[in-house]
Amino acid sequence: MIPALMPTYNRADLAFERGEGAYVWTDDGRRFLDFGSGIATTSLGHAHPHLVKTIAEQAAKVMHVSNLYRVPQAEKLAARHVAASFADSVFFCNSGAEANEGMIKAVRKYHAENGHPEKFRMICFEGAFHGRTLATLAATGNEKYLAGFGPPVDGFDHVPFGNMNAVRDAITPATAGIMIEPIQGEGGVRPADLRFLKELRAVCDEFGLLLALDEVQTGMGRSGKLWAHEWAGIEPDVMSSAKGIGGGFPLGAVLAREKVAKHLKPGTHGTTYGGGPLACSAGNAVLDVVLADGFLAQVDRVARYLWKGMEALAARHPHVAEGVQGAGLLVGLKLRPEVSNGEMQAACVAEGLLTVAAGMNVLRVAPPLIITEAQVDEALAAIDRACTKLTPAKSPALAK
Ligand SMILES: *Cc1c(COP(=O)(O)O)cnc(C)c1O
Repeated sequence: MIPALMPTYNRADLAFERGEGAYVWTDDGRRFLDFGSGIATTSLGHAHPHLVKTIAEQAAKVMHVSNLYRVPQAEKLAARHVAASFADSVFFCNSGAEANEGMIKAVRKYHAENGHPEKFRMICFEGAFHGRTLATLAATGNEKYLAGFGPPVDGFDHVPFGNMNAVRDAITPATAGIMIEPIQGEGGVRPADLRFLKELRAVCDEFGLLLALDEVQTGMGRSGKLWAHEWAGIEPDVMSSAKGIGGGFPLGAVLAREKVAKHLKPGTHGTTYGGGPLACSAGNAVLDVVLADGFLAQVDRVARYLWKGMEALAARHPHVAEGVQGAGLLVGLKLRPEVSNGEMQAACVAEGLLTVAAGMNVLRVAPPLIITEAQVDEALAAIDRACTKLTPAKSPALAK
């Protein structure tokens, strides 16, 4: 018989009752170090006092009013995002997929309003993940996810990740923009070359295309800078964000330059829940922490510490791991084909550590931004034990 909760996920048999900082406890009292952060989402860890207090106070005042009225919390959050980024204007929504839908619509509208409605196609990349709605699935382009859902939404052309010649070859008079994750998250924690990102910016300028970055997973400090594209020294024309920006409260955003945003006039795009008082209060509380003096510098420091430890760990376990990839606190341990990321994830759970699997047989390590070096040590020790357990028995290293 089908479970009452629709079985769209293979869930681990763990139910968490409470959390504090980087730790969570199951309902039967077991403690786990959370280096998955609910898929790179609980950026401040669990039960962060400032976030909890802000949400509780706002919930007791007013939770939802709709966008028929002014929402001061959203106005404040938008102004802060504008001050801290390339953007001139921000649209708030509820999820990453919804942010990407808004971003894709914004790109299409820009060209239509500039007299080129024929320019509606986006160049996207193999290995991408942009969400599960019909358009973002088409942008994702993964056959496995598209199967059974009818003809994919038209307007997305895929080229190999990092291949500039393929990008140039894919540009046609119908091309509207280029959509890319600075680090492919679900696709295997694969960072784009910084030079490649620079070249994408240049080709967009050359052909009048919009550069649309999906920073749903990489944004809000995860890379050690507020936005991952800052590492490349470039600015997009439009960007989507979600996951970490609400610290666990559902919140998405489309950040855009004025030339793009100005065409999204009343009636062109909308959302009932998006940008409500509660979600935007959460967003402001997250920003209070992330933009505080020295916070991102500390994220960068602890990320480099984690990175060094992961590289040493990979070197110690050559029969399990091939190497380390990613950026900041989004680190992928690339596993050898003999060891599946599912097995590794389960082995980490047995050692009291939560992680997330990613594509290309990668174990994704995405701790909350508030972790300490001591907690990194604890996680590294757990992964080390998991690697030892999973070392193939027949391996020459063990035979000798
Ligand atoms: C998670 C993710 C999405 C989808 O976000 P949802 O909130 O699940 O809709 C889109 N793009 C990227 C890069 C993501 O990591």
